[in-house]
Amino acid sequence: MAATMDWAATRRRFHLPDGVIYLDGNSLGPLPVAAAERVRRTVQDEWGEMLIRGWNEAGWMDWPARLGDRIGRLIGAAPGSVVVGDTLSIKVYQALASALEMRPDRRVILSDSGNFPTDLYMAEGLIASLGRGHELRVVAPGDVAEAIDADVAVLMLTTVDYRTGRMHDMAALSEAARAAGAVTIWDLAHSAGAHEVDLAGVGADFAVGCTYKYFNAGPGAPAFIYVRPDLQEEVRPALAGWLGHEAPFAFDPSYRPGRGIERMRVGTPPVLQLAALEAALDVWDDVDMAALRARSLELSERFAAGVAARCPELVPALPPEVARGSQVSFRHPEGYAIMQALIADGVIGDFRAPDILRFGFTPLYLSEADVDAALDRLERIVTGATWDRPEFRARKAVT
Ligand SMILES: *Cc1c(COP(=O)(O)O)cnc(C)c1O
Repeated sequence: MAATMDWAATRRRFHLPDGVIYLDGNSLGPLPVAAAERVRRTVQDEWGEMLIRGWNEAGWMDWPARLGDRIGRLIGAAPGSVVVGDTLSIKVYQALASALEMRPDRRVILSDSGNFPTDLYMAEGLIASLGRGHELRVVAPGDVAEAIDADVAVLMLTTVDYRTGRMHDMAALSEAARAAGAVTIWDLAHSAGAHEVDLAGVGADFAVGCTYKYFNAGPGAPAFIYVRPDLQEEVRPALAGWLGHEAPFAFDPSYRPGRGIERMRVGTPPVLQLAALEAALDVWDDVDMAALRARSLELSERFAAGVAARCPELVPALPPEVARGSQVSFRHPEGYAIMQALIADGVIGDFRAPDILRFGFTPLYLSEADVDAALDRLERIVTGATWDRPEFRARKAVT
């Protein structure tokens, strides 16, 4: 049974611009009120006053592991199995390189066409660098289970499809991969902070994810990586940076991997962004993930039902029986212009090519009233065709 949450109280912990209904926290979370003050303190009191002494006096050097543990609680990872740093693209590369080394006699990386392009690009780049004849095999999301065979070295999937919101069964696919002798990498970009995840329970080998989406740590906030505890002393971190060395300040001329998850660190941590992450995670300390998931489904189903009744031109990107993360997506040939018109009217969602309108439902700061107001404005725009104007059709760099 999920704990009862006071969602009005969590909403007060965020700054949301007046008049805006924010349905894009799945892409960039809003500003936690305390983060502005926390970053100011780190800039002025720590950087400003402590200067380089901040690494010791403010404990900056320990933040990647300490914040990793706080994230761990939210994704079913034991203390000491998550560390924060770098971008998600880098962490995908690192996990994949480590995972491939664990299966030297196999050549296939299995993924799906719903994966985010950077994950696939990083795999292609790594394959080219290794030059050992690896193959990236990309199948349709529904065909993954049957594509897991004895040739697969690594199963690399993003749990929730960034476009459609389709959610993989992590437990079943992890089990199938294990039975076939494949290593698993789960990308939790659209899962961490969105729904319950139990990395230890499903026996995931590696996991990676973002902190600027559902965790609300701000634009450019670093990624995280998880390594199954009993693998940590075996894996080679691939990116042998000095802060993943066993003794960085011994300045040893050759690399020795650090203890446990510390070896997955690479270089200097982004301290200002970690200060924002720390404040963002304070909000999560009081969140029950089962309650959050239940609430997210309640809000998103309310929205989906409203769209079906009031804007039938928008076609659901997923059939209703398919499990979904915390976003709802629709297809429309004029999706881009409709979304621009909606944003101009104060409802912020986003668009993913070729024709997807995407709406994220994040219970920390959204209510039924927001869902209903968003539906009113969407219906007005779609039925009145007010999106059909040149300024809404002009493509911006970031969609
Ligand atoms: C958002 C997202 C990324 C972004 O990677 P960055 O390196 O942080 O830009 C990567 N993979 C997935 C699945 C994502 O959803």
